Amino acid sequence: MPMYEYRCTKCGRRFEKLRRFADRDRPAECPDCKSEESEPQISCFATGGCGAGAGGRGGFT
Ligand SMILES: [Zn+2]
Repeated sequence: MPMYEYRCTKCGRRFEKLRRFADRDRPAECPDCKSEESEPQISCFATGGCGAGAGGRGGFT
């Protein structure tokens, strides 16, 4: 199951969730403010493009 990155449109927090591809575009609950007003971000995991050498997994260092 791939990891997707979201950004909360209420508090601006970025967070990641493991989701099925079919659920990617559905809102995810923010761990801070519990809002579901979040938007999916382009993920390093999904594209496999960035951060391969820096810190190992990209995104979080
Ligand atoms: Zn939030």
